[in-house]
Amino acid sequence: MNYTISKVFAREIIDCRGFPTVEVDLWVDDVLAARAPVPAGRSTGQREAVELRDGGARWGGKRVTKAVQTVNQVIAPAVVGMDVRDQRAIDATLRQLDGTPDKSKLGANAIVGVSLATIRAGAFAAELPLYRYINTNAHILPVPLVNLINGGKLTSNDLEFQEFIVMPVGANSLLEGLQMCYEINLHLHDILVDRFGKIACNVGDEGGFAPPLRGLDEPMQILTSAVDASGYSKHIVYGFDAAASHWYDWEQGHYVFNGENMTRDDVIAMYAKLCRDYPVASIEDPLMEDDFEGWALLTSKLDGVQIVGDDLFTTNTTFIQKGVAMGAANAVLWKFNQIGTLSEALDAAELAYRNGYGVQVSERSGETEDTSIADFAVALNCGQIKTGTTRSERTAKYNQLLRIAEELDDAAVYPGRNFRRPVG
Ligand code: PGA
Ligand code: ZN
Repeated sequence: MNYTISKVFAREIIDCRGFPTVEVDLWVDDVLAARAPVPAGRSTGQREAVELRDGGARWGGKRVTKAVQTVNQVIAPAVVGMDVRDQRAIDATLRQLDGTPDKSKLGANAIVGVSLATIRAGAFAAELPLYRYINTNAHILPVPLVNLINGGKLTSNDLEFQEFIVMPVGANSLLEGLQMCYEINLHLHDILVDRFGKIACNVGDEGGFAPPLRGLDEPMQILTSAVDASGYSKHIVYGFDAAASHWYDWEQGHYVFNGENMTRDDVIAMYAKLCRDYPVASIEDPLMEDDFEGWALLTSKLDGVQIVGDDLFTTNTTFIQKGVAMGAANAVLWKFNQIGTLSEALDAAELAYRNGYGVQVSERSGETEDTSIADFAVALNCGQIKTGTTRSERTAKYNQLLRIAEELDDAAVYPGRNFRRPVG
């Protein structure tokens, strides 16, 4: 087989929320070599690359026929004939064809589809698993951040925090860690039914329960009861995605949490208390996405806690650089579709590492059956992945990680408590 891209074809498919999304097929040497469905966010950051939707009355305005046409009519002719292993050259071609800083001309969804199909097809042509194609030294299995309670934009409940997460850092393997998390989830189910009735067990976008709770104390009390009931409390630490931009009142210039107006200092004090009361290991988007200065203050105050920038950085080296210069956050949430191409996303991870920042690979709320992020987490040796709780578009990623664990066998390392600085 030679490595020449011979055909690229996009279509519209449906994501886990029932929204249309782009899927790209890519042929190498006339053989279908890869299929890449494109994920999408709901709780998006303002600095993310722009995904193109058709608008209009049908399908909630969410159709992506223009992005599909762009792949078939504009991108395909430009990349056919290129060597599929030239990921950076292909990604550069995509950026040049687009020509905008936020990928709004071609649409990030069109670009992501082709970039992802390229890296997958490269692995196929090289006859290597995706993680190994990206990194021969890939061997760290990630600690899962399982968001057992969903709130914010992922649900219809009143919780401000988007994700209440357990991390099985005391487990000896990924499988044992997943067992712990799903056992806790079973206890959580029973506790919720007991206290609030069956309706409390409806789930949010990322497959965690979305109960009718408020604030911080209620969900934490219930979550810790479930952890205690499982008997795993010594092995579990907590994580959160506060998604604070979404409970910040942009007009009034203050936060609104559980019915109360709060200043930045109040919010920082709330996190300090949370970290005193519980073994908290990781907090994502604790403050709104424009307040780099506040992030720096909070990062130095909550010494020892991982502070993860999602909406703050949007996997973009420009904003990671700014964060590094100011001491804002100490880890980057890694979502490749926030920036648009795999090369740029890999650059973002490298920049983070060079500056002592951690990297946490993440799902989007709008996922498909695609499992690439499992391979990316292992390829980056980053030590941590956030990919939801129940439902197949979430568990598909864990299942892929379990297959990778089997393949790596003795070479695999589950970093446990060293998830921020995995070694071995
Ligand atoms: P999103 O939410 O995929 O809707 O952006 C996930 C997150 O904020 O981490
Ligand atoms: Zn987030």
